[in-house]
Amino acid sequence: MFDRLDSLPPDAIMALMQQCKADTRTDKVDLGVGVYKDAAGTVPIMRAVKTAEEIIFGEEKTKTYVGTTGRVGFRETMLELVLGTDHPVLGSGRIASSQAAGGSGALRLGAQLVQAAAPDATVWVSTPTWANHIPLIGSTGLKLQNYPYYNRDTLGVDFDDMLAHLDANAKPGDLVLLHGCCHNPTGADLSHAEWDRLVPFMNERGLVPFIDLAYLGLGRGIEDDGYGLRLVVRDCAESLFTVSASKNYGLYKERVGLLAVVCNNPDEAVVIQSRLGAIQRTLISMPPDHGAQIVERILGNGDLKRMWMDELTEMRERINGLRQLLSEALNVQGGEAIARAVVAQNGMFSMLPVTKDQAIRLREDHAIYMTNSGRINIAGANASNIPGVADALLSVLS
Ligand code: PMP
Repeated sequence: MFDRLDSLPPDAIMALMQQCKADTRTDKVDLGVGVYKDAAGTVPIMRAVKTAEEIIFGEEKTKTYVGTTGRVGFRETMLELVLGTDHPVLGSGRIASSQAAGGSGALRLGAQLVQAAAPDATVWVSTPTWANHIPLIGSTGLKLQNYPYYNRDTLGVDFDDMLAHLDANAKPGDLVLLHGCCHNPTGADLSHAEWDRLVPFMNERGLVPFIDLAYLGLGRGIEDDGYGLRLVVRDCAESLFTVSASKNYGLYKERVGLLAVVCNNPDEAVVIQSRLGAIQRTLISMPPDHGAQIVERILGNGDLKRMWMDELTEMRERINGLRQLLSEALNVQGGEAIARAVVAQNGMFSMLPVTKDQAIRLREDHAIYMTNSGRINIAGANASNIPGVADALLSVLS
């Protein structure tokens, strides 16, 4: 039977990673894969994570099953972190939640729930969006459509076009997938004022927000980055959001994520809680525990939480410092617009206005690796190679 199947092309980012790894030029710069790197180019284990792991190693007494929706303590502490302890919906009983296998697992779990509740709903995603959104959500059978988002000329968000498109095309009960902060792949986020307009717009049209929060704390800080999500949860009768702990805890391979579903009332939340457990059972049965336990221990311990926050701040400041350096280096004739965009954008990614051919030339002639769409992971650079990146970019664009 397996001879009926053809092989599929490798994942574009993985292929780029391999190509960069095989490149023997010593001055190569890997701006491809979306992981945070420190100045030495390593993907570090955070100090608070190491310390929590040591505590777990000493104290953990059993590896028995936890349950289909994971650790209650993990879910509660994550919700407090993301929403803020004084959020009005936190103690309302309206939130059902589940631990998941990374942000990806949470997206799939959420999409599967939507598919069960509203199989005819369309999920609207930004142009462009994180490539994996499409298969993660689409494989449940839900329809996906695009709304305009990133403008490759202005290098910012086309907010009015986004609203006009949704107004004309989305139907009540459809979902709108939004990036909570640090939009992947563009780095272009909605401003607070735009979130303030978006939320009443969605309520008036009966559209349900589905927020993917994968980079909390890596843009402008926890409060700032969580602004839109907190507003949505406060003002919308129903919403869903996913949180990934891959980037801001550096827990990539441990697969730590959360899905939260905000329901109309507490009775509905009880029903949805049971559904989440049942759906997870059909997907992976139970989520992996180790990484979630690390997060729970960090968030539940004042000293560890401070240690984590301090390191998250260091990471964010490094990213924003590199953005500043790149912007300064690009702020010459022909580079002014990109220079402005690079500091206005948030998180690890920016989308540069390069064509596929220019991205290939950057790889072949300058050993600078980025996706063919022009997405760069700024954390893959360092202070000493930024000037070279800027020069090479300007030379291929001229
Ligand atoms: N959403 C977005 C926008 C992402 O960029 C990522 C990671 N690349 C994720 C979700 C999920 O990450 P993970 O499954 O590793 O937690």
